[in-house]
This record gives sequence, C-alpha cells and structure tokens, in this order.
Amino acid sequence: MLKVERLSKSFGTHQVLRNIDLAIEAGEVMCIVGPSGSGKSTLLRCLNYLETPDSGAVFLAGEPVGVRWRGATLYEMSFNELAVQRQRMGMVFQSFNLFPHKTALENVIEAPIVVKRKKKAEAITEAEALLEKVGLADRAHYYPRQLSGGQQQRVAIARSLAMQPALMLFDEPTSALDPELVGEVLAVMRALAEDGMTMVVVTHEMSFARDVADHLVFMDQGVIVEEGHPRDVLRHPRHSRTKAFLARVI
Ligand code: ADP
Ligand code: MG
Repeated sequence: MLKVERLSKSFGTHQVLRNIDLAIEAGEVMCIVGPSGSGKSTLLRCLNYLETPDSGAVFLAGEPVGVRWRGATLYEMSFNELAVQRQRMGMVFQSFNLFPHKTALENVIEAPIVVKRKKKAEAITEAEALLEKVGLADRAHYYPRQLSGGQQQRVAIARSLAMQPALMLFDEPTSALDPELVGEVLAVMRALAEDGMTMVVVTHEMSFARDVADHLVFMDQGVIVEEGHPRDVLRHPRHSRTKAFLARVI
C-alpha cells in the first residue's frame, strides 16, 4: 500500500531525514515513535508531499507520489494532480484544524461536496454515518467551540474519512488533549484499525502502539534506528538509543 525508498530531506544545511526505507501492506498499522525533533512529522509530510523530499521516492499502491513518468522522463506533478493523489491519504494533526464557523456535520460534508462534487443529501447521509462511527451522532450540529478537544479530534477523523482515503496518516493526534480525553480518540483509531484501515501513526502512546501496531518504528536524528513488531521492539530493543527512549516514555 505504501512504500518509501531512500527518502532524504534537508532544511538548509540541516539533514532531517536520511535514507528512510519503509513499507506497509494494506490493512496494517505502523506506529512511529522517537524523540522530539527526530524527523517524524517531516517524514509524514513527505509521504503526501506536503514537504517535497530532496531525494528518494514514495509509492502509494504502486504509484509514485508527487511525480509522474511521461515516456522516459520523470516530472513533478502539477498542483491539481498532486491534490487528487493527496485525497487518497487522510491526515489528522495534533491541532484539530476544524473550520470554526461550521458545525461538526458541515465540517465533514465540506470536502466531499466541494472537492468530490457529491450531492449535499448524499454527503449528509455519509457524514451522519461517520459521526456515528466516531461516537458523535448527537453532536452533529455543534460548533467546534462547543465540543471538547477529544470530540473535535474525532470530528477531524470523521472529516478525513469522508474523503474515503486509502491510507490515514496521524501526527500525534492525542498530544494536544487533556489526559482524560486521550482514550476516546485512541478508541476511535483502534476501531478504525480493526476495520482494516491502513494507518501510519506518529504517537507517544506506547500502549496503543503495543496493542494496535503491526510495525513499530523508532526514529532518532533522521534515521530509522529500529523497526519491528512492537512486541519485539518493546521487549527486546536492540539499540541503546531505543532502550534510552523507551526507558523515558514507558
Ligand atoms: P518531530 O516531528 O520528530 O518532532 P520534525 O520533523 O518536526 O520532528 O522536525 C525535525 C527537525 O526538522 C527539527 O530540527 C525541526 O526544527 C526541523 N524542521 C522541521 N520543519 C522545518 C522547516 N519547515 N524548516 C526548517 N526546519 C524544520
Ligand atoms: Mg512532530
């Protein structure tokens, strides 16, 4: 479903990602952990070309992301081509980024109507089902400011799902939440994983990673230090940097 080959990215002289290789099959969940500044967000942003990698390649279901072959020549995609490809990768951020002047339901139907040209009635029916799925059927007509952080983040997840992405990317989706609200968001993500959604999740929630992930990736200073099944990485970390990090977060 997703493949990353030798991806590198620098900001000025600071190399933030070095030769990252990753692969994830359809229906799998990959959790990425690592210290602040290790390049996790930059990696996620490179996956859907919110950042342009300096070198290397990303493939979504076999298709190169952000570039396209014409004959034997490789071109950067046009903005419109890229936008279509990005729709296949839903992204949920630490800050929920809902439209503040739209209700939960209006937030969810916006992109399907504007981008996918769905009929409003159809978009509403689908949005209601998605709000139900994230446990917010009774909050459809609330505005973001009337919702808790956990509820807002669940609306943000429903809004991403409304575009029927092939893959979901989460960048520390619970880091901005009060501790008592983390569980409800993780529960929605867990249900999504059980439904078979392919997910890449940057998180500090080690119990989520342990229980849900098929792959646990530990990043430090722009490289993948260690990757494996969470059971193996958590119980028997091989590298001293992984051990030191896990000792701090668990
Ligand atoms: P993480 O998500 O693991 O905390 P980031 O990917 O956000 O790490 O950042 C990795 C490094 O790249 C940090 O040193 C950060 O300051 C730097 N960085 C991230 N984005 C930019 C940018 N747009 N311009 C310059 N430096 C950046
Ligand atoms: Mg980050």
